[in-house]
Amino acid sequence: MSEAATPMLAQYLSLKAKAGDALLFYRMGDFYELFFADAAVAAAALGIALTRRGKYQGEDVPMCGVPVHAAPAYLARLIRTGHRVAIAEQIEDPAEARRAGRPVARAIVRVATAATLTEDELLDARAGNWLMATVRDGAELGAAWADISTGRFVTAVIPSAEAAALIARIAPAEQIAAEGEDGSGRAVTLAPMHFTPRAARARLEAVFGVATLDAFGAFEELEVRAAGALVAYLDLMGRGTLPRLDAPVREGVASTMGIDAATRASLGLGRDGLLGQIDRTRTAGGARLLAEDLAAPLVDAEAVRARHDAVAWFANAPGLRARLRALLGQAPDFARALGRVGAARAQPRDLAAIGTGLGRARSAAALMDEGNAPLPALLGAACAGLAADDPLPAVLQTALGLEDDGTATRSIGPLDEGGFIAPGHDAQLDALREDASGARTRIAALEARYRETSGVAGLRIRHNGVLGWHIDAPVRAEAALRAAGFGHRQTLAGQVRFGSDDLAGLAAEIARAGEAALARERAHFERLCAAILAAAPAIAAAARALARIDVSAALAELAATERWVRPEIDDSRVFAIEGGRHPVVEAALREARKPFVANDCDLGGKPLWLVTGPNMGGKSTFLRQNALVAILAQMGSFVPARAARIGIVDRLFSRVGASDDLASGRSTFMVEMVEVAAILRQATANSLVILDEVGRGTSTYDGLAIAWAVLEWVHDRLGCRCLFATHYHELTRLAERLPGLKLATLRAREWKGDLVFLHEVAAGAADRSYGLAVARLAGVPAPVIARAKAVLARLEAGRPMVSIEGELPLFAAVADDAPADRDAPALAARLRAIDPDRLSPREAHDVLRELIGKAGEG
Ligand code: ATP
Repeated sequence: MSEAATPMLAQYLSLKAKAGDALLFYRMGDFYELFFADAAVAAAALGIALTRRGKYQGEDVPMCGVPVHAAPAYLARLIRTGHRVAIAEQIEDPAEARRAGRPVARAIVRVATAATLTEDELLDARAGNWLMATVRDGAELGAAWADISTGRFVTAVIPSAEAAALIARIAPAEQIAAEGEDGSGRAVTLAPMHFTPRAARARLEAVFGVATLDAFGAFEELEVRAAGALVAYLDLMGRGTLPRLDAPVREGVASTMGIDAATRASLGLGRDGLLGQIDRTRTAGGARLLAEDLAAPLVDAEAVRARHDAVAWFANAPGLRARLRALLGQAPDFARALGRVGAARAQPRDLAAIGTGLGRARSAAALMDEGNAPLPALLGAACAGLAADDPLPAVLQTALGLEDDGTATRSIGPLDEGGFIAPGHDAQLDALREDASGARTRIAALEARYRETSGVAGLRIRHNGVLGWHIDAPVRAEAALRAAGFGHRQTLAGQVRFGSDDLAGLAAEIARAGEAALARERAHFERLCAAILAAAPAIAAAARALARIDVSAALAELAATERWVRPEIDDSRVFAIEGGRHPVVEAALREARKPFVANDCDLGGKPLWLVTGPNMGGKSTFLRQNALVAILAQMGSFVPARAARIGIVDRLFSRVGASDDLASGRSTFMVEMVEVAAILRQATANSLVILDEVGRGTSTYDGLAIAWAVLEWVHDRLGCRCLFATHYHELTRLAERLPGLKLATLRAREWKGDLVFLHEVAAGAADRSYGLAVARLAGVPAPVIARAKAVLARLEAGRPMVSIEGELPLFAAVADDAPADRDAPALAARLRAIDPDRLSPREAHDVLRELIGKAGEG
């Protein structure tokens, strides 16, 4: 690049303007190059060298590049670090441009963003990759979410107040909203015109080729607007190439358990928590469906029971289950292969994956037919979808040379190398391949003849990317070969290379036959892709059916290996868990060879339990395990218990442990109160509420007072099932007044001065708190414990604080001659001046520093 904008630079700049805030991958031969600020950003993010190329307006132009063949890995890293990447490809034959003396024509063919990926290398096989669009209209929110890697497309209308909960459930890779409407600040914004009802409806009807969307169901306007905007965004990112989407399905109003973001976080439902613990699926599609199910437990008792029926069927058929799971272990991820075909990014191996996947699906259906018990409805429907009489599997099998059951017998290479269409499928293709191989045979004969006539024993005919076919010999044979009339082409350190007319003729024959064969293979490829797209809804349904079977069988496997039981589900307000366990804590303890103590929980008679017990006694574990049992039961799984009866939980709230959210500028206590407020406002009589140490983040009396009032509200107004853990022993007095409140405690025993946790839930209240014993166990220095004991004794005797200070100077017990003693009155005065309730976390920090500084001066 020179001082002024060269034609190429001008082209680059105009493409960059179109790319907007996306980094521009500018294709130059075998590299994608980045220039200017993009280059600096990418070089830093990818750890690659930043170089220069020419000058622009007197300045060096920074540049970096990534090889095309390695681009997916770099793309993944850039996208993971929050970038979007516009990919500009060469859209004409470079030779053409060279003849015309201008830069190769280029165009942005795609903007790669987190939610518009389809490549296996760029995606987590076991997680969905969702794009979500929302549109708000007062109290209501329309939402649409799609995973283009599989085509799944869902819409819903929900109360606006529940937007955050839905977003937490779907956990979209990208969110879109209309300009000015992004409440979360995390969404990509789109011009409002894409969200108008008319534009959205027209777009959807055009994409799905239907006269009216009603063909797919009765969509509300808000859903249509969100769905239409979502498609508009895909269209913009794909630069006109739209990925395939399933027809949108409506999610019924309140068809899933309400679980807000804080509850999700506090219960640890993700892959590093509950999901990771329960996932026994054998296919990527199954793993994704399991994650979806777990994120959205059902609230329709009948639908829940239908899932349990499916798990029970597999639980009662261990032999068949094992064979089926072995079969599933060999099923490729054909839902995502279909996604790539739909996005026009497929390779031959994707076609093979679909052929193999459909074959496996049929085998699975046949295998399940052998079961002794009749299939329950859910599995019956799944199998019906798998065994459908569709000619596509046979077409793929013969074209790609798969076995009847879909097994691939040959390795299937990339599109531009050819060779993926099976021999015998196309006579003309076979003939072309024969021509090429005939010419190769003649080349071998030529080599033998040349070797004989020249007398050069080391003569070989070889092929490489630069010279093509050529004669290769040791350097010392150069004179002899020149004399024999071969045309010299290249001399290297030890080798010399020649050409001949005969060889050139054969090489041209091979090239012609090869090109023609490749063209035929491409045509087959296009035809197969078209056939797949025509059958796409059926293939997607088969993939989903196989995933459902995988999930049911995996949950049965889990139940069998972990001794889980089928819960009874109804619409009552029963919650009777016998011998319940916390699956994640139990697994962690197993690693440490420690037993987990199972505990009962029956909220039927008295729906509100006040749980006390020492720190580390197991309160949080007990609370959470019951929440997890409810989630597991309603997602369709068996549960970690000896027996369980659960009346459907419509919403689950969990507020466990205090956590700072400093990033958003809210202190521990504020966060706690915001969440408590949400619970008290949103919980219904059918909800399950878990409250762990509410009021802990403020002064004792404030905290106690709030906890007291919250308990009364839950008892008198909500009447919902609730587990409430606390350290405030004063609260146990409420049991005398509130008939629906039961006291429960985690037992511990002090034995020879040490604290022994029994982790057993018993009726009643803890006889006392064990805070000091736990502090000692944790290694708090003995003088501090001694001092705390003294303070405690006086507090328990009802002596006011001021008098305690007078009697016992701070840390008098540490050392009699401690100089700090002299400063004690000043320190105490300073301490008294502090009002903890008015301090921000930051200020509290500063005060602490100041006090420590004072202590240091002493
Ligand atoms: P804190 O009041 O400090 O939050 P806690 O009473 O809530 O404590 P947990 O955090 O539930 O206590 O449990 C502490 C530890 O005790 C767990 O990490 C686990 O190792 C063990 N534990 C808890 N419950 C059980 C159980 N039922 N069986 C065996 N071990 C348990």
